[in-house]
Amino acid sequence: MLGSGSAGNSALVATDHCRILVDGGLSARQIVLRLEQRGVTPEQLDGVLLTHEHGDHVCGLEVLSRKFDIPIYANSQTAEAVRYGGLLDHHRNWRIFRTGAEFKICDITVQTFPVPHDAVDPVGFAFYAGSSALGFITDLGYATKMIVERLRQVHTLVIETNHDEKLLQNDTHRPWPVKQRIQSRHGHLSNNAAATVIEQLLPGKIDRVVLGHLSRDCNTPELALQTVRNALNKSGKIDIELYCATQSEVSPRFCIGETKLGAFQSTFESAFFPAA
Ligand SMILES: [Zn+2]
Ligand SMILES: [Zn+2]
Repeated sequence: MLGSGSAGNSALVATDHCRILVDGGLSARQIVLRLEQRGVTPEQLDGVLLTHEHGDHVCGLEVLSRKFDIPIYANSQTAEAVRYGGLLDHHRNWRIFRTGAEFKICDITVQTFPVPHDAVDPVGFAFYAGSSALGFITDLGYATKMIVERLRQVHTLVIETNHDEKLLQNDTHRPWPVKQRIQSRHGHLSNNAAATVIEQLLPGKIDRVVLGHLSRDCNTPELALQTVRNALNKSGKIDIELYCATQSEVSPRFCIGETKLGAFQSTFESAFFPAA
């Protein structure tokens, strides 16, 4: 996790052959600096995948793509929303996917699925490489049955714990409609809601959970971790690794599994992606 929180989000998903950014919601400068901390240069990126068009997920993209010609993977509505916003109007390297589609970027298979959130066509991802899988859901009001099914095979899950319900209720800065929006079915997961999603996945393969997208004023890493830890303890699952990502610092590197070493035969990408 290069950075995660309500002010900006970007994560690096990598194998020996492939490096993908999930969202570009930090400044381009911060993205480059934080990639550097993980030994990756922007030129090495094989693509940026977008979950949705909100500023905290795309604000660094314009500068980043002006400097580096990185393919941007998004569904058409999200791509349009980002372009309509004036950002990236001239970027030519769009790779458009249909929500629900599965495709490959080098040796990573990307599964996409819709999530309920107040954006034009927001998605979550499941990444498969070698024998391991990573689930990625931030920015969703609730987890649909389909989302839970899509995440049954994942070993590591990145999930939003946006707010503590009490802190949000007692918050004096946010007007009522904003609180309503956050709590709605198209808003954000609370700590408790995320814990419930994780509980549903416990019969699966999950062994690590990374919490993210915390609200600055209505949550703390301690509260988020404690809420999820309590739920896991109640379910008798004490062997799950838990980590909370923050806004200001790059997280440790999480090793999800092994992929095959050696040469990788890349696929002819344009066969999969019609022009935007
Ligand atoms: Zn967000
Ligand atoms: Zn959002």
